[in-house]
Amino acid sequence: MNIFCIGRNYINHVKELKNAIPERPILFLKPSHALVEANGEAISLPKNEGTIHHEIEVVLKIDKEVKLGDSVNDVVGQMALGLDLTLRDVQTELKKQGHPWLRAKGFKNSAIVTPFWEFNGVEKCKEIEFSFVKNGELIQKGQIADMMFDFQAIIDDCVNCFGLGQGDLIYTGTPEGVGPLHSGDFCQLFWGKEEKGQFYVE
Ligand code: ZN
Repeated sequence: MNIFCIGRNYINHVKELKNAIPERPILFLKPSHALVEANGEAISLPKNEGTIHHEIEVVLKIDKEVKLGDSVNDVVGQMALGLDLTLRDVQTELKKQGHPWLRAKGFKNSAIVTPFWEFNGVEKCKEIEFSFVKNGELIQKGQIADMMFDFQAIIDDCVNCFGLGQGDLIYTGTPEGVGPLHSGDFCQLFWGKEEKGQFYVE
């Protein structure tokens, strides 16, 4: 199982971090050990490593071996919401040194995911807004219609460069509004009005 993640896929998020607009998807991987379910329990995050940022993202689960030219609706079986967590201070330092992002993006529990539900096609997804609520306050919201690289472009790129198979996950990028998590924060992820997962930060 691979966990692919897309960086800088929503223009307002690119601007808030003062990054350049990418010409092709920015892809990175997280180790499988990064994955943890938001099931109402506490999730333990690194201490004393600087700021941890939340990034709410739509997560796709691939159903079968993907061939170039396969359509999203044929190869995605389930979806979820996730938080791609980032040690932002560590990442800034790694970027400065030209080093890989792994330490900033791949730590244990850095890929939070809600339980999965059936994927009903791209068009249906476009109608729904997803959001991240922290301690009862709306912090991030977005919709996939605002992505620079849509699901199809991401899948085409992944299969072309790396291969995509059954069980692989894709974190599809975050809209604007990323910010810090602190010990004790109560976090909820919503698909439309429906809460799909919640957890406490430990
Ligand atoms: Zn992200």
